[in-house]
Amino acid sequence: MSAEQAYTGGCLCGAVRYRIEEIFDAGYCHCSNCRRSTGGAVGAWAHVKAPHFELTKGEPKSHATTDAGARDFCGECGSTLYFRAADGSFHSVTIGTFDEPCRVRPKIHICIDDGLDWLEIDDELPRYSDNRSPHPDERGV
Ligand SMILES: [Zn+2]
Ligand SMILES: [Zn+2]
Repeated sequence: MSAEQAYTGGCLCGAVRYRIEEIFDAGYCHCSNCRRSTGGAVGAWAHVKAPHFELTKGEPKSHATTDAGARDFCGECGSTLYFRAADGSFHSVTIGTFDEPCRVRPKIHICIDDGLDWLEIDDELPRYSDNRSPHPDERGV
């Protein structure tokens, strides 16, 4: 993927900025950890292999949510920026912090049984009750 197609984004206050070379998957997560960390009804995540993710400004703070990994956020404004896998293999970046969030489309719903019952989902995307993201098929975006 060439440089002009790279994705950029950052937190609300601008203290932390990032650049993404390539995204291999994207999806919604309806689990309570995503809900609490983002403050939204659902988490929308772009999955990026660690070598394709680069911080270009600032140093986020980190909260180790589970054994699976940590959630990194801006220590100034609190924006949740990404989940970082404990094994160092990938980052899941909040699509809401992208400069151009419409360039990335979620392809899957996971942890759907933990979702809010007032949230109406009107799409044909596959829905799974478990956490199977990032998907091994690497659907691309
Ligand atoms: Zn910030
Ligand atoms: Zn989740």
